[in-house]
Amino acid sequence: MEKSKPGHNDTPIIPGSSWRVHDMNRPHPVVVNPGTESSQTTAGKPPSDAIILFQGKSLDGWIHRDGSPARWKVEKNYMEVVPKTGNIKTEKEFGDCQLHIEWASPEKIEGESQGRGNSGIFLLERYEIQVLDSFENPTYADGSNGSIYGQYPPLVNVCRAPGQWQTYDIVWIGPRFEGSQLIRPAVITIFQNGLLIHHCRKLIGPTTHCAVLPYEPHPLNGSLMLQDHNNPVRFRNIWYRPLEKDDILG
Ligand code: MG
Repeated sequence: MEKSKPGHNDTPIIPGSSWRVHDMNRPHPVVVNPGTESSQTTAGKPPSDAIILFQGKSLDGWIHRDGSPARWKVEKNYMEVVPKTGNIKTEKEFGDCQLHIEWASPEKIEGESQGRGNSGIFLLERYEIQVLDSFENPTYADGSNGSIYGQYPPLVNVCRAPGQWQTYDIVWIGPRFEGSQLIRPAVITIFQNGLLIHHCRKLIGPTTHCAVLPYEPHPLNGSLMLQDHNNPVRFRNIWYRPLEKDDILG
């Protein structure tokens, strides 16, 4: 039974920690306002500690891979792929994070398999989480929506109908290298529309089409890239929260 005194100084040290059990001197978690959730008509408000990458007004901070300003369309509160303009990426580079991004496949159904509502979210410009209209649209499993492209299908298909807004909440822990040596692969956890579709998935290497690529050393930080796969996919409400502590995997 807990005594009424405010703290404990005679409790055991927690293994692997310098704190005692119930130590009142242990720093409290930082207070963060969680913001609001999105609806089909309204984009939510990011948490108070989020770094905003796209909030619906302009593509400032987004460029094509050649460095030119992003030529995708911005309407209402979203951006939309303009086919044949090319992928766009953030000027900002970042590493381990919690990333939130919302997207919608074109309401008008065109094409099939990989040709329907295809885009992609590339962490560090290298690791693709597939965006595809996988609502009643069969394709190879490791290229379906929510797959880590060419490596892992999602645990379940939770796609909404075309035209509906959907969410990805991604926990990204990048690979670690020592010199040319991989010492820990990238680890990713993803929720789609609030449901778990990947849990602590260890990536095999960078993602690509029809091949398996080995890891090559790269910095911890990189741009977030969105794919132009010739389909007018929409994105809104993109933000991340840096996870700077290297011990987040425990
Ligand atoms: Mg794609």
